[in-house]
Amino acid sequence: MSSAANNPSNSTAATGLNPGLLRSLFPVLHQQVKGQPLAYLDNAATTQTPLPVQQAMLDFEQHHRANIHRGVHLLSQRATDAFDAARATLKAFVGASSQQELVFTTGTTEALNMVAQGLWLGGSGHAWLRPGDEIIVSGLEHHANLIPWQHAARMTGAKLRILLPDAQGQVHLADLQALISDKTRVFAITAAANATGERPPYEAMLTLAKQAGALTVLDAAQAVGHTMPALADLDCDFCAFSGHKMYGPMGTGALVGQRAALERLYPLRLGGDMVEWVEYDSAGYAAVPTRLEGGTPNVTGAVGLAAAADFIEHIGRAHIDAHIAQLRAQAVAGLQALEGLTLYAPHASHAALVSFVVDDVHPHDIGTLLDERGIAVRTGHHCAEPLHNHLGKGPTTRASFALYNTEDEVRRLIDGVAHALQVMR
Ligand code: PLP
Repeated sequence: MSSAANNPSNSTAATGLNPGLLRSLFPVLHQQVKGQPLAYLDNAATTQTPLPVQQAMLDFEQHHRANIHRGVHLLSQRATDAFDAARATLKAFVGASSQQELVFTTGTTEALNMVAQGLWLGGSGHAWLRPGDEIIVSGLEHHANLIPWQHAARMTGAKLRILLPDAQGQVHLADLQALISDKTRVFAITAAANATGERPPYEAMLTLAKQAGALTVLDAAQAVGHTMPALADLDCDFCAFSGHKMYGPMGTGALVGQRAALERLYPLRLGGDMVEWVEYDSAGYAAVPTRLEGGTPNVTGAVGLAAAADFIEHIGRAHIDAHIAQLRAQAVAGLQALEGLTLYAPHASHAALVSFVVDDVHPHDIGTLLDERGIAVRTGHHCAEPLHNHLGKGPTTRASFALYNTEDEVRRLIDGVAHALQVMR
């Protein structure tokens, strides 16, 4: 990859990032949809992968593919080295401390299930959650950071409490202070709400929960690719993210946790590769992270995920964040000027998306009309149905931005929404 991709002398934006040049690294973007150039604005659902990520996976497949840990032959050793190197790259990428360890998963959903189920699966002797304990989950969450906690509460007799947002969709530290008690055993929150773009004050909230003795869980799916402090600087016991939302492959992701916290988790997947010894009636599990990675992992995916982390580092998170913030500000200004349109979290900092509702127009109609113009957005509840019900405005249209999006695409979005409103009203 050319370092000119973020060379300010080539940049079209004040952010030091040149999306025109970067786009050449994303072949999928160079196509027509319904006779128009594709404007891909569905990045909160899935980002596209650049050539260096595709190449890293192809290289592994063509030259090094073998199962890891089990072979003495050269290819197996190379594959094991590649897997270990990917883990080291990703730990550095998220700024893990020396006490933190990274477990490869299929994504955020699996990582959060690993935590929520792992805290009770071991049986009453091991369980972190007992009847009468409390789990606090923010009301901004994707279903992936809610349903596993509903299940954990049901299975253990713990009580699920929701840190509800206000009418503007914001959650407040004072409300968490009022909810937290010596019964709180878990606190889970997102670093950025996928449905609204809201960025909660999660740093202070994690610290508060930690001080109360709870295990703290951060869903970083919508933050890890462009903005997030180093994990070592957060009071975070567990952090989950997905590869496909950070220019990496689908079906990849990670759970990063304090080693002591990971050791509390009973493994979701029992079987090969997660054991030290096995007899017919019992087994001794390996140390973390291996004990949580039963079965053959997606080694090609891990290699691709590490390449995505390298790609982001090469461009620079600050550049990506500034570029996205500029596009979002443009979208917010343009959309807010349209009559009858209400935007969620217009002032959210570091948000990578705009989510809005329009009086008397269903988002699916807006999404369909935008698709006619080659503009890909997402419509619906974005897997955050309770939040939408709480805010009382129904499903939304969501446009979300990545490092390769351009001001021209945002202009097309605004024109397209204006056109949809004319047609539908
Ligand atoms: N959490 C958040 C905030 C998300 O936006 C998403 C996906 O949209 C998830 C969790 C689930 O991620 P995955 O489907 O990659 O497991």
